[in-house]
Amino acid sequence: MSNPIRVAVVGAGGRMGREVVKLVLEDQELELATALDRSAGGIDAGILVGLPASGVIITEDIELAFVEHKPDVMVDFTTPQSAYANTLLAIKHGVRPVIGTTGFTPEQIKELDKLCIEKEIGGLIAPNFSIGAILMMKFAAQASKYFPHVEIIETHGDQKLDAPSGTAIKTAEMIVENREELRQGNPNEEETIEGARGGYYNGFRIHSVRLPGVFAQQEVIFGGYGQTLKIRHDSYERAAYMPGVKVGIQKVMEYTGLVYGFDQFIE
Ligand code: NAD
Repeated sequence: MSNPIRVAVVGAGGRMGREVVKLVLEDQELELATALDRSAGGIDAGILVGLPASGVIITEDIELAFVEHKPDVMVDFTTPQSAYANTLLAIKHGVRPVIGTTGFTPEQIKELDKLCIEKEIGGLIAPNFSIGAILMMKFAAQASKYFPHVEIIETHGDQKLDAPSGTAIKTAEMIVENREELRQGNPNEEETIEGARGGYYNGFRIHSVRLPGVFAQQEVIFGGYGQTLKIRHDSYERAAYMPGVKVGIQKVMEYTGLVYGFDQFIE
């Protein structure tokens, strides 16, 4: 067997980060090189996720950790405010970024792609690692060729910071690539309550629902003559993302440049 891929987990104390720590500690093809978090410092990463002690103590200084532990890959599930700076640091140190944190702008993605190419390393920004969700996006993009009238409704827990979700933005972008440009609805439409029609994106609307008790759902609704088509995906727990995270860690070892969207790996 070849050497395990050495992984740095950033945001290791968070809800997604803990799942990644578990994945890396339990998978023989991966090795936990270092684990970082602003709030869980000083704790053994294994103990934090309910596994035996791993010998990897969670620390805060990302740059120092990269220098000391030389990971191959950084997996980042932090906040939209932190993730861009973390990714710049990773690339600077030749550590391939695998980013699950949402909220990157198109300009940031372009810049990171340029930096990855210069450094001759692979990188991945995937707003959604769930294979079911990727299929939902692909089916929606395909349907938009035949049903150009579309709206997206995404629902997440009430503590989510960014809206619309990264998945909704990615879906919208994929739809735009397939659908003829069209400004939907009545041109004289007026909102009597601001925001009632949702966010406007290239002629169609995206609605973000935030409620406690929900994990992650998205429905893409198409309207045509005498019919609607609804494509829907529901995630129930964070473990749903981990098979995709592992594929991402393995893939970034194989190419140069930044890939945006896990859909690129699903035929
Ligand atoms: P969370 O708040 O539970 O965890 C974030 C963690 O990051 C916290 O423990 C925090 O202390 C830590 N952190 C923040 N800034 C840091 C920094 N600079 N250095 C080190 N640690 C830092 O959040 P979560 O629910 O785990 O979600 C994290 C991100 O992942 C969000 O952007 C969310 O939208 C995204 N997400 C992506 C996917 C996907 O499939 N791509 C799935 C679920 C969530």
